[in-house]
Amino acid sequence: MPAPLTTARPVLVGIAKMAAESQKLQAKSRVDYFEIAARSFLHKCNTDRLPFRWGINPYRGCEFGCKYCYARYAHEFMELHDPLDFERRIYAKHFDADTFLAELRKLPRGETIALGTATDPYQPAERRYGVTRAILRAFAQTSGLRLGITTKSQLVTRDIAVLQEVARRHFLTISMTVTTVDTALARLLEPMAPSPDLRLAAVRKLTSNGIRATVFAAPILPLLTDSDASLDAVARAARSAGAKGFGGSVVFLKPCAWQVFLPFLEENFPLLVRRYRERFERSAYLRGDYPERIVERIARIRQRYGFESRFHDQEEPELWPHDRQLLLF
Ligand code: SF4
Repeated sequence: MPAPLTTARPVLVGIAKMAAESQKLQAKSRVDYFEIAARSFLHKCNTDRLPFRWGINPYRGCEFGCKYCYARYAHEFMELHDPLDFERRIYAKHFDADTFLAELRKLPRGETIALGTATDPYQPAERRYGVTRAILRAFAQTSGLRLGITTKSQLVTRDIAVLQEVARRHFLTISMTVTTVDTALARLLEPMAPSPDLRLAAVRKLTSNGIRATVFAAPILPLLTDSDASLDAVARAARSAGAKGFGGSVVFLKPCAWQVFLPFLEENFPLLVRRYRERFERSAYLRGDYPERIVERIARIRQRYGFESRFHDQEEPELWPHDRQLLLF
């Protein structure tokens, strides 16, 4: 008689092991929250393509569930292979202020750090667990770095007081992502994210409280949000909200994003399916004329409204080198 078949389970190591051992914090009908250990909060970005050297993501996974989200692949490191797990299983990183402060203090002056490179630091989990706010409080005890925060949420305005303190000590920019001002289209593309008018109202509130903000139209989606009229409308609204900078970048659709984006197109924009298949089935990235035209379009719009580029050149806050009090840290 043949021996019974057994299914070999993969041996989990590293982040997959940590995810499997995570303690469930709360279960909701749509989303489960977990707490996960964090070996280090700062991760180094070893590429010249990005305008920052360090990244911080307070959460793994993002409940906003944007249809084009490229970061879904990150759950695969935890052996979670359904791309929808990324928006349904949210891991709040365990935060230890002393350890993080020690990490920050090792950085040389002027280092560039992006908060929210792969998940939104102001997604709904932040209301419950406050990891992003705890991180900002640590920044408010140090000085001399360049910090950029990327979000789609008006929840960032909750932290205006601590952001003002961070801006006094570091070069701080909040980058609000607004892909379109068309609320109905945004609702389809970014179903759980705050509407564009809420995001722009948040930009207004930040800038009127002296916090530097920019608006980033990203990703730009061919035939959906790439027209001059669509991008101009975002830029005009950004300008009127007091944003200093405006930028945008073309979408790329890696397999994990394509698996979600294609059914979305089939359901909502069936006439675009053939064009997207032609463009993205061979490569996740668009090359050639199209991205070049978009770069030119963004540059023209930026000029039209007198915007800076997203990441400002070598401006330094006056307080960095001179404030004696800051030298205590
Ligand atoms: S807000 Fe950003 S990280 Fe979150 S789902 Fe959307 S694109 Fe992904």
